[in-house]
Amino acid sequence: MTNAQEPTAYAQRLAAVREMIAATCKACGRDPSSVSLLAVSKTFPIAAVDAVAAADQRAFGENYAQEGVEKATTRPDLAWHFIGPIQSNKTRGIAERFSWVHSIDRLKIAERLSAQRPVNLPPLQVCVQVNIDGEATKSGCAPSEALALCQAIAALPQLQLRGLMAIPEPTSDTSTQRRNFAALRILRDTINDADASLNLDTLSMGMSDDLESAIIEGTTIVRVGSAIFGPRTYTNTSATEL
Ligand SMILES: *Cc1c(COP(=O)(O)O)cnc(C)c1O
Repeated sequence: MTNAQEPTAYAQRLAAVREMIAATCKACGRDPSSVSLLAVSKTFPIAAVDAVAAADQRAFGENYAQEGVEKATTRPDLAWHFIGPIQSNKTRGIAERFSWVHSIDRLKIAERLSAQRPVNLPPLQVCVQVNIDGEATKSGCAPSEALALCQAIAALPQLQLRGLMAIPEPTSDTSTQRRNFAALRILRDTINDADASLNLDTLSMGMSDDLESAIIEGTTIVRVGSAIFGPRTYTNTSATEL
C-alpha cells in the first residue's frame, strides 16, 4: 500500500521541519513563535494525520473539499485550514468544519462562507489569496484588486479577515522566491497603510521547498506537506482508497 509509514517516520520529519523553522528564525532574528506550522495532509489517510497529531501538531491543511470535510469531521479536536480552490457548491462543509480558509479570491465565495458559518462557532478566519507573480493559469486575485476585496470581506459578519496568502510558481532560485514573498509582504503593508481598520496580521506563504525564503521575508504561516508526510502519489486520497 502507498504511504503506509511508521508513525515514527512522521514524527521524525515533523521534528526536522520544526528544527529548520527554528534555525531559520534564529538566523534572521525572528522569534520562532511568530511562525506557525500548518501540516498539509491532502491525499494522506487519516492514520497519517493521527500520527502527526500524536507528535503534538494541531493545525492541518486540506485542498479538496470532500476529503477535507471527511477528515475534519473525524478529528474535530484539530484545527482545520482550507487552502485549495473553492467551488461555490462546496462552501457549506468548509464553513461548518474548518476554522481557517486561506484561499478566498472572490467575494461570492466569501459571502457564501459567511452566510453558512454556524453562528455558534467563532468567525471563520480567512485570508485573501493573491496571484503575486502574475502566473496566468493560477487562482488568486490580482494585487490591484486585493484592497477592495479585503474591504468587502471585512464587512461580512461571520468572517474575520486575517491577511494574505500566495502560492508563487515553484522555483529553486532563492532570489526569485524571496522577491515573490517580499511582494506579498509589501502588499500586506500597503493595504494596512491604505485602511488601518483592516489590521492584517497574517502572511500565509512558504511550502516544503521554499519555507526558508518565506521566513526571511516575514511569513506567519508556512504550509508544509511533503516535508512532513513524504511524497504525494495522488492515488491515496480517502475517496480513491475505498
Ligand atoms: C500542497 C500544498 C502545500 C504543501 O506543499 P508541499 O510542497 O508538499 O509542502 C502548501 N500549500 C498549498 C496551497 C498546497 O496546495
